[in-house]
This record gives sequence, C-alpha cells and structure tokens, in this order.
Amino acid sequence: MSIDFTLTPELEELRVRVRAFIEDVVKPGEARIGDPDEIERDEYIKILFGMRDQAKAAGLWLPHMPEEWGGMGLGHVELAMVQAEAAKSYYGPFVMNCQAPDEGNMHTLLHWATDEQKEKYLKPLCDGYAMSCFAMTEPEVAGSDPTLIRTTAIKDGEEWVINGHKWFISNARRAKFAILIARTEDNPDLPQAANTAFIVDIPSEGWNRVREVETMHGGSGHSEIVIEDLRVPDANMLGGRGQGHLLGQYRLGPARLAHCMRWIAQAETALDMMVDRSLHRYAHGSVLAEKQGIQWMIADSTMELYQSKLMVLHAAYRIDHGLDFKSEVSMAKHFVANMLNRVIDRSIQVHGALGYSTDTPLAHMYQHARWARFADGADEVHQMRIAQRTIAAYRDSGSTRTATGDLPI
Ligand SMILES: Cc1cc2nc3c(=O)[nH]c(=O)nc-3n(C[C@H](O)[C@H](O)[C@H](O)COP(=O)(O)OP(=O)(O)OC[C@H]3O[C@@H](n4cnc5c(N)ncnc54)[C@H](O)[C@@H]3O)c2cc1C
Repeated sequence: MSIDFTLTPELEELRVRVRAFIEDVVKPGEARIGDPDEIERDEYIKILFGMRDQAKAAGLWLPHMPEEWGGMGLGHVELAMVQAEAAKSYYGPFVMNCQAPDEGNMHTLLHWATDEQKEKYLKPLCDGYAMSCFAMTEPEVAGSDPTLIRTTAIKDGEEWVINGHKWFISNARRAKFAILIARTEDNPDLPQAANTAFIVDIPSEGWNRVREVETMHGGSGHSEIVIEDLRVPDANMLGGRGQGHLLGQYRLGPARLAHCMRWIAQAETALDMMVDRSLHRYAHGSVLAEKQGIQWMIADSTMELYQSKLMVLHAAYRIDHGLDFKSEVSMAKHFVANMLNRVIDRSIQVHGALGYSTDTPLAHMYQHARWARFADGADEVHQMRIAQRTIAAYRDSGSTRTATGDLPI
C-alpha cells in the first residue's frame, strides 16, 4: 500500500488554475456585488452569471460531475482540493456550479433518477439553467430523526397527493424543483422504510411558500413551505417506495464531506487573517504575534486545520475506493464543523473590535458557520453514531481499531 499526499502535475496545475480564477475573476466580481441587498437586481444577475460563463469557458464547471454531464469528472480526493480553493470566496462554489444544495441533488439524481428524470431535472441543473432544493425538515418534529416525518403522500390512481409542512428549505424561492421527502408507508418493517422521495416541480398548485425564515445571517433563502393537496405523478417518484431514508443517507455522505471541504477554505481564510493581524497589531511592547496567548490560538487553529484536512482527505479516499465511509464522514463532519467555529472565533478575538465589525468578512463567516454544528446531522447525533460504531467494533473484534478510520497504524 502506498500513502502519497502529492498531487500529480496535472492536478497541481488544476489547483493553481482554480486559485487564479477565484482571485482574478470571482473575488473582483464579489467586490462589485458588495451587499446583494443594495445592488440593482439586474446588475447582480449580470455579474453573477457573467462569472458563471467565464467558469464554463475556463473548464472550471461542475467539478463533482462526470464528464458526460459536462463536469470535470473528479474523484472525491480531487474534489476536496478544488472545493477548498473555490470556497475561499463566498460565490466561488456557486460560480463553479458546485454549491449546496444543488451539488448534493445532482449526486442524488445521477444515482437514483430514471433516464427521463435525468433529462428533465438533472440536465438543466448541470447546464446552470435551473436550481433546486431538498425538502425534508419540518417544524413540528425533530429533523434529526427522519422517522418522525409527518408530511404524507397518499396514492390516488396514477398520482400521489401530498400534504405537510416543511421549513428551512434552502434555495426554495429560486428552485425549479424540489426533492421532497414524504411518508408513504403506515407500518413499514423498519421505521427507516416509511419515507419516499418525490420530485416536485416549482411552482406547483399546492406548494405554498409562506415565508423566508429570518435567521442570524439574515433572511437569505431558507423557506417555510405549506403543502396542500399537491399532486405528483407516479413518474416523479425518485427511487423506490420506502427508499426515502436510504436516498437521504446516500445524498448526505458526499454532501456532508463537500461542506467540510468548503469549511476548510473558510477556516484557512480566518487563520490567514488571524496571523496577518497578529503581525501588524502592536500592544504592550510587541506585535500580537509575539504574545504567547496569541501563539496558542494560532497553534491550536493550525493543528485543528491540519487534522481537518487529513480527515477530509481520508474520508474522500474511502468514498473513491468504494469503502464504507459513513463513520469517517461523520467524524470529519463533526470535527470540521466545530473547528470552523473555533478558528473563526479566535480570529475575531485577535481582530478585537474590527473582528466584530462588518469591515472584515469574519462576522459574516461566523454567522454562517454556526449552522454547521447541527445542520446535516447535529453534533450529538454524529457522536451517538460514532460511539455506536466504536462499541460495535470492540464487541465484534475485541478492538476499537477499525472504528478509528481503519488505518494501517
Ligand atoms: C441554514 C440552514 C439551512 C438548512 N437547509 C435545509 C434544507 O435545505 N433542507 C432541509 O430539509 N433542511 C434544512 N435545514 C434543516 C436542518 O437540516 C435541521 O436543522 C437539522 O436536521 C436538525 O433538525 P432540527 O432543526 O429539527 O433540530 P432537532 O432535530 O430538533 O435537534 C435539536 C438539537 O437536539 C439535539 N439532539 C437531537 N437528537 C439528539 C440525540 N439523539 N442525542 C442528543 N442530542 C440530540 C441536538 O443538539 C440538536 O442540535 C437547514 C437548517 C439551517 C439552519
């Protein structure tokens, strides 16, 4: 077995190209946009989609999709490197068309959709002509436990009639369709086999967007939806009856890891800023970089970022090699989400009042980072699953070794 962390010359060249594209095209475009609430809508669209055209022309489009779908055909390890460059800027993933939730939905459609569904729904997503959303969470029941989902789909001839209530549906107001999870089975053999996924066209009669949920980072695109007698044809079932949970799990593995890749970029930005500020800010006879208290913050952040990168690369390696990756992705998701919050927090601390202001991107990054600890699996749920697997490994083999990444040490 060889362990080699170097990139091939082609991949190194790709990484440099992505970095240059983000620096030369996306960051200037982002600066022109400024506050999206302040800029004229037409101008906003023109800048954003102009950048997308440039990404397509540069061959930096859909890094996560196979070439036959217009993508770059990268594996997950390669993707980690591209996402970690793309997310150095807020709009980078969107410009390259690898942003959540579309990116996870594309993976899901690629794996689960019929040919007709792929043509109708996946193709426009890949071409950048449509956006999508994923509708699972409900206000009345714990999103951490999908067996509690109350939205129902009842069969009526060739159609399904759906009633229910969803919220925090990211991108719903811009989406052309939703992948919706609803309960179809009353008494399944397993509680996990109660739900089924459907593709819902937006707009559709019965799909009622009642509000944008105002969050600590503003009201930017998480909708509450009331679903009333929405009719969906049989042909829009995604996967089989009762496979909604399976599909959700399949979707969340790579999607969670892709979040981690983008969070690494954000944390690296925060650490760069922390070091830069500490080298230039002077107090009590020296620059901050010479204070032990500040060095500890820099050292802890460096070590945690290093751990995060290794965890993400290893989980990506396991996906690429067809190995079971649930535990590694779970551990990476938990660790990287918490690392992100700690590193941004320390960077704000080192910046003092400036860090708390909106003059630097840190405050904005901090607001976005907070959701990472509970969305796509809350910390405690990941910890529960990780512990269960570790206990099972010990019970089965008398050792916890396989649960700690099954590494050769
Ligand atoms: C910005 C944002 C975007 C989102 N986008 C989407 C989207 O596009 N589509 C979608 O369907 N959903 C979306 N969500 C919802 C998200 O997936 C849920 O918030 C998440 O699944 C948790 O569900 P919940 O909020 O109902 O919390 P709950 O399930 O009520 O959990 C609350 C807390 O309870 C604790 N907890 C839960 N289970 C356990 C346990 N077993 N042991 C110990 N503690 C536990 C944890 O601390 C957890 O944080 C989004 C949320 C946010 C904030």
